[in-house]
Amino acid sequence: MQHVSDAIESNVRYYCRSFPADFSRARGSYMWDTTGRQYIDLFSGAGALNYGHNPPEIKQQLLDYIAADGIVHGLDLRTEAKNSFLSDFSSLILSPKQLEYRLMFPGPTGTNAVEAALKLARKVTGRANVACFTNGFHGMSLGALATTGSRRKRRGAGAPLSLGDRYPYDNYFGATIDTIDLISTLLRDPSSGFDPPAAFLVETVQGEGGAIAASFEWLKQLAGLATEHGSLLIVDDIQAGCGRTGHFLSFEPAGIYPDVVCLSKSISGFGLPMSLLLIKPRHDVFDPGEHNGTFRGHNLAFVAGRAALAYWRDPGFLRALDQNIALLDEWLSALVERLPRGAAEVRGRGLLRGLAFADDRLATIVARKAFQRDIIIEVSGSRDDVLKFLPALNIPSATLIEALGRLEEIIELECLTTAGDVETLQRRAS
Ligand SMILES: *Cc1c(COP(=O)(O)O)cnc(C)c1O
Repeated sequence: MQHVSDAIESNVRYYCRSFPADFSRARGSYMWDTTGRQYIDLFSGAGALNYGHNPPEIKQQLLDYIAADGIVHGLDLRTEAKNSFLSDFSSLILSPKQLEYRLMFPGPTGTNAVEAALKLARKVTGRANVACFTNGFHGMSLGALATTGSRRKRRGAGAPLSLGDRYPYDNYFGATIDTIDLISTLLRDPSSGFDPPAAFLVETVQGEGGAIAASFEWLKQLAGLATEHGSLLIVDDIQAGCGRTGHFLSFEPAGIYPDVVCLSKSISGFGLPMSLLLIKPRHDVFDPGEHNGTFRGHNLAFVAGRAALAYWRDPGFLRALDQNIALLDEWLSALVERLPRGAAEVRGRGLLRGLAFADDRLATIVARKAFQRDIIIEVSGSRDDVLKFLPALNIPSATLIEALGRLEEIIELECLTTAGDVETLQRRAS
């Protein structure tokens, strides 16, 4: 009999094709399907579940809130839940880092945050064009899509996508070409055809692009370029933020202070839809209601998001996070050492890591075989050539080690068989 999803759901469905199980329950880094089969989740809802599935501390607060008939939907009314989220975000995240930002709640998805940020930058600068980068991903609505690299995704728009000026990301042409120099040259030449943009929209680690991390130096220089040309610096921290790189905000170690920051995915801590913008006070120029929406700031997400912030003052959580980062890092380096030279390259930062295979086909093959061995792991990158590691930040190390052990066997075998002979791989890599 045909599956109800195949019979009724739109052809656009995507992840369920890679992971064709009927999931019913989940806890921490484990998911179970309706037959009781247990999976280890190294995908974490594309980074929307940084604290794992149904983290008990957050769940309890949600249950208590609903049981007490707390306000669930409130447009952008002042609610106790929102007030508490705002004060904790300010005292736990902003103040300790000496960041001064206003919080704006657009519609609940990441692409909403990006649209709002672009609109704001245009209003602040009076310019329409926005600088964006090769391999960047910013969402699926028209404005965000115009700044997204992937041709496959842009093609779906069916309308002209304009106003995105594409520049090469850090290292795009390899280590010998400094892309900041290149961008700077173009922008300083009044006849280059490139105009100073309303904003530079950038991910510090490109998630969908294949876990490509920009260097801190590059990010610093980009911030300088934005200042020089009167453009806003917008960091899209939707995937790399909320602790994914080991810092709550991914740009912290780069020592930059973006004008606008987009957060979504894990900001509610529980997989509830929520997104927000951090805006430097002087750029907070929308008129009341100028960017409206029915679901701006959902109170369940405020309750959960506030409970999630508490992890960031828990030494046990922070220690586990550091340990997981080190564990994954060491495993990736050791694995690549053992593979044929040039067969794979390690990418990313923190717990947003990738294994880019010289043979484009391998990442998908490995992910498919991993699913057969009860591991949920996704691919990303221009050609789906990168196996992407997004474990929960607090995955127990024993669980992580078990999953990596299974992956190691699959990868070692596939690198030697599927990719054919070692010489082919080395030739491609050189
Ligand atoms: C996921 C993502 C988005 C889009 O978020 P949605 O909630 O899917 O609209 C935007 N930018 C980045 C960097 C993302 O990873």
